[in-house]
Amino acid sequence: MTGEKHKQDFALQKLTEYLARTGRRNTPERLEILEAARSLVTGFSVEELANAVAARGVRVSLATVYNAVELFVAAGILARYFGSRGALFEILPANRHHLVCLSCGKTKAVKDQSFSEVLRARHYSAFTASYFEMTVYGVCSACARKAKKTNINTRIKK
Ligand SMILES: [Zn+2]
Repeated sequence: MTGEKHKQDFALQKLTEYLARTGRRNTPERLEILEAARSLVTGFSVEELANAVAARGVRVSLATVYNAVELFVAAGILARYFGSRGALFEILPANRHHLVCLSCGKTKAVKDQSFSEVLRARHYSAFTASYFEMTVYGVCSACARKAKKTNINTRIKK
């Protein structure tokens, strides 16, 4: 799926940017851990991620997985939240925005590269942007058609 491809490119791009910014180099272990994190769809613990890494046939210590997770959080690749099982992590979505219909409430996720470029070019003082979520409100085509029909009908009745 192209959606998955976008998500992959986004995470890898974030990691590369962060490592360059902080003067660190990438390691094959980190890439393996990132791949394993991406294979876990929902929120996962560090232990679950370590198991996923092991399942890929990669041998890394739990400490390495912990360090990689901290780095991914700092790089804006992973979100950390606290669930009933303690700290859980999840891959952050790629930059995207939603189109919301004011009439029927239907929501559609879309990607627009130009907005990502605007964000990348921006420099906020004392803040590093990870990703954005934007909502665009309007009227979907189905509702627009319906509204047009209703207008014609009321006009005929008069
Ligand atoms: Zn609608």
